[in-house]
Amino acid sequence: MSAVKIVATLGSSSSSPEQVERLLRVGVDAVRLNFSYGSHRDHANLVHLVRKTAQRLGKHITVLQDLQGPRIRTGPLKDGGPLGLEQESEITIAHDLVEGNNGRISSTYPDIYRFLSPGDRVLFDDGRLEARVLAVQGRDIRCQVVKGGLLGAFQGINLPDIALDIPTFTAKDREDLEFGLKIGVDWVAMSFVKSGQDADLLRSMMRRQRTGVPLVAKVERAAALLDLEGILNAFDGVMVARGDLGVELSPEEVPVWQKTIVRQARRKGKIAIVATQMLESMISEPRPTRAEASDVANAVCDGADAVMLSGETAIGSFPVEAVAVMARIIQTSQEIYVPEELPATDRYRREAQAVARAACALADDLNAQAIAVLTRSGVTAHRISRCRPAMPIFALTQQPRLARRLNMWWGVVPVLTDLPDVTVDSHGVIEKILLEKELVKRGEKVVAVGSSPLAARVPTNFLKVLRIGAHAYR
Ligand code: PEP
Repeated sequence: MSAVKIVATLGSSSSSPEQVERLLRVGVDAVRLNFSYGSHRDHANLVHLVRKTAQRLGKHITVLQDLQGPRIRTGPLKDGGPLGLEQESEITIAHDLVEGNNGRISSTYPDIYRFLSPGDRVLFDDGRLEARVLAVQGRDIRCQVVKGGLLGAFQGINLPDIALDIPTFTAKDREDLEFGLKIGVDWVAMSFVKSGQDADLLRSMMRRQRTGVPLVAKVERAAALLDLEGILNAFDGVMVARGDLGVELSPEEVPVWQKTIVRQARRKGKIAIVATQMLESMISEPRPTRAEASDVANAVCDGADAVMLSGETAIGSFPVEAVAVMARIIQTSQEIYVPEELPATDRYRREAQAVARAACALADDLNAQAIAVLTRSGVTAHRISRCRPAMPIFALTQQPRLARRLNMWWGVVPVLTDLPDVTVDSHGVIEKILLEKELVKRGEKVVAVGSSPLAARVPTNFLKVLRIGAHAYR
C-alpha cells in the first residue's frame, strides 16, 4: 500500500469510463477537477463516473475541486491554436476579445493594460514563454517576445513585476463552489491564496449553505509565503503549487520552500500536497526521467501527504503509466522515509494527540500489522496519520463522505462499515470488521484506538492491542 496519496487531474486523456477505471485500479486515491477548464455538466458527469467506478471497485476516492481563482489566461486562438511566437517578434495583447493570430491575442482579464508599464514581464504557460512590454497604446499592450515557442489557447499568464489587486475568490469561483458543493465534492482547493483570511469567504459561504468541506490553500504566490502560519491555521491543508510558485520565485528557491511548507504543515496537523511537473516528461513519453523519479521520491521523503499529477493524467499520452510509475516510486521510497520527530511541545499538549502518539509507539514496539481507528469525526485518524506510523491506519467509519475525505491523509485507509453503537466490546467489533474485509489475518496484531461508546461523542478514550483470532468473535 502507498502511504503517500496520489492525486490525478482528470482531463481529455482520462475521462472515459475505461480510463477512469484503469486509473483507480493502478493507484489513484483522489481526482482533481480543474475548474479552470470544462463546463459544470462535464464536472458533474466526471463525479458521477468516479463515484460509480469507485463503488464497483470498493474504493473511497476523494474528489478535489480546484477553483480557478484570479487566474489570467490567454483568449481563444484561430483554429484552436497553438500559435508560434518567434523570439524578438512583436505581439499585442488586445483589450477586446479577438481570435488570436500571429500579431494579436487577447486575455481573460482585459483590464491588465491599466497595471502594466514598459519593461514589465508577461509570462505565458508557467513561464515557458516570455515577453516584455514595449508600450501600452490605448487599451492594448504591445510586447516583444523574449522567449519564444508555441503558445496555446487559455494558457496561464503571469505578471511577476506587478501586484494585481484582484480578489482571490472571484464571482466564477463562487458559482463553481456552489455547484461543487451541490454535486458533493470532498475537498476544495483555493487558488492564488494570499493569506489565511482568504479562507473566511469560503467558510462563510459554506456555513450559509449548511455544508462544509475541508479546504486546501494553493501556495503559488510569493506573498503567501509571508503568511504561511496564518494560512496553515485557517486551512485544512496546503498545496505546493510549483507551477505558478516557480514563476514567482527563482528555481533554486522552490525546493527549499517545498520542504519548509511540507514540514510546517505536518507540525500543524494539516495535509501537504506537492504538485506540478512531477512526471512532466510522461505527457509524451512512456517512462519518466531519473530526475522526475527522484522528485517524487524526495516529496515522499519530505513527508508530503500526497503527490499530484496534472498534465500527465489530464492531457498526456500515458496517464495510466504515469500513475503506475508514481505508485511504484512511492512504495519504494517510503521504505527509506524517516519521519521528522515532532517537537515535544506539539506532541504532548493535548490528550488526544498523546493517545495518537502512544498508539503509534505501541504499534511500532509490538511490530503490529495495522492501527485501527474507530472514528466519528476523523480527527483521531488525522492525529495518528501525523505521527507517520510504519503500518496502515484503518479508519473505520459509518459515513461514506468521511471515508472519502479521510482518503487524502497520509497512510489512512478508510473502511466503510455499519458500526453498531458500540458500548462494551468495541475491540471485538473492530476485529470482526477487519477480518470480514480481509484487511488482517489471524495471528496478526492490531492496535485499536477510539472512543466508546461511539455515539456518546466522547474524546478518544481507549487504546488496545488486539490479537486477531484470539477473540470470541472468531
Ligand atoms: C500550479 O501552479 O502548480 C498548480 C497546481 O496550479 P494550476 O494547475 O491550477 O495552474
